[in-house]
Amino acid sequence: MADKIPYRNDDGEIAGIIGLSVDITERIRVEHELLAKEEELRQSQKMEAVGRLAGGIAHDFNNLLTAISGYSQLLYGRMPEGDANRELMKNVLDAAEHAASLTHQLLAFSRKQPVQLRSIDLNKTVSNMQAMLKRLIGEDLGLDTELGSDLECVAADPSHIEQVLLNLAVNARDAMPDGGTVTIRTEHVTVNDEASKMSPDAHTGDFVCLSVTDEGVGMDRATLEHIFEPFFTTKEKGKGTGLGLSVVYGCIKQHGGWICVDSSPGLGTTFRIYLGLSDQSAASSADDKPIDECVLEGHDERILLVEDEPVVRDFASRALREKGYEVLDVGSAEECLEAFEREGHMFDMVFSDVVLPGKSGVQLVDELISMDPNLPVLLSSGYADQKSQWPIIREKGLRFLQKPYSLQDLLSSIREVLDQDGAV
Ligand code: ADP
Ligand code: MG
Repeated sequence: MADKIPYRNDDGEIAGIIGLSVDITERIRVEHELLAKEEELRQSQKMEAVGRLAGGIAHDFNNLLTAISGYSQLLYGRMPEGDANRELMKNVLDAAEHAASLTHQLLAFSRKQPVQLRSIDLNKTVSNMQAMLKRLIGEDLGLDTELGSDLECVAADPSHIEQVLLNLAVNARDAMPDGGTVTIRTEHVTVNDEASKMSPDAHTGDFVCLSVTDEGVGMDRATLEHIFEPFFTTKEKGKGTGLGLSVVYGCIKQHGGWICVDSSPGLGTTFRIYLGLSDQSAASSADDKPIDECVLEGHDERILLVEDEPVVRDFASRALREKGYEVLDVGSAEECLEAFEREGHMFDMVFSDVVLPGKSGVQLVDELISMDPNLPVLLSSGYADQKSQWPIIREKGLRFLQKPYSLQDLLSSIREVLDQDGAV
């Protein structure tokens, strides 16, 4: 090489080499770092694209599902007890419910599902889900719950926590083809400096730990390294999507919590989720109360309904009329303002979609409220990204109904708005 020359002594014999070398350790390190960053960027761009796609599909599905499950519920309600078609209708309803949970999964995966933090009692959440989880994991497997006594409330979104439990329970079921028991536990834990080393996301303080333990096949190191990656699955085609745990991870991160896994091959698995305590006691939420159909009926209250999607508009107005409300339905903000003027503001409430052609539902209710400050309003959307204008809705404290909504959701939200806001 040109940068090395022989060193000759006084007799002209080669006695050594004179050369120049450059230490490139640092350059190589930086190059590697750059490559890793590039890979990270590519990965995050891919996830962003997949997320956007998923979010977009979920939105259209939400509208369709609102109509499918809504009409089915109306029909089901009309069928007399003992009607042979009732069972068939029930199957349609179950399938629609399943589809709705898939769109929720997709929205959660695209990390765009709005988190509505509330003060919740995890013991109650687990108890409420017990029957459903039992059905999900099947007759052959056991389901145990060990709920900590005097458990403090956590700041969490109940629908997210339900999704998390559902995903963990399905995985536990799949891990136990030869039987076993799933155990769900809740307990108070105090995390000190030492304990906070359990995960890079962990921090010190008081938490509630929610864990799901199975006696299944367990996982080896190599599998454990990848389980939270989207689309990572060891299940056969058609059985696994590889989305379950990435959704769990995303949800818990959005909550400011973290997750730990204990597993080894043949010895079962425990997932532990740590959630921060809330500073308020549990709000008595509508979900906790048993739903009483009669209480949900209308008494000729006048509702101005704004929805641009014809199937959803038709379902919602039909359902509300059938349940005793008077409904005027329109397809845009402009039509709504016109109807509001024409009818001399004589409405008991306005129920509007957020994403409308032209003026958005949020702008619309702003204008309506400026004309009539006591007008009760309810917004609804299947979008959960920036189009949903979620931050503004939350900031303004407006009531919101997430699509797809069931007949029950619709009726109870309308009733709640009328009873609380309308009473003033
Ligand atoms: P999917 O269930 O669709 O495969 P997940 O993201 O829920 O996707 O899980 C990813 C992978 O993690 C699974 O395919 C499985 O290999 C592993 N896994 C998750 N939970 C468990 C468990 N409880 N026991 C054993 N393996 C599990
Ligand atoms: Mg899964």
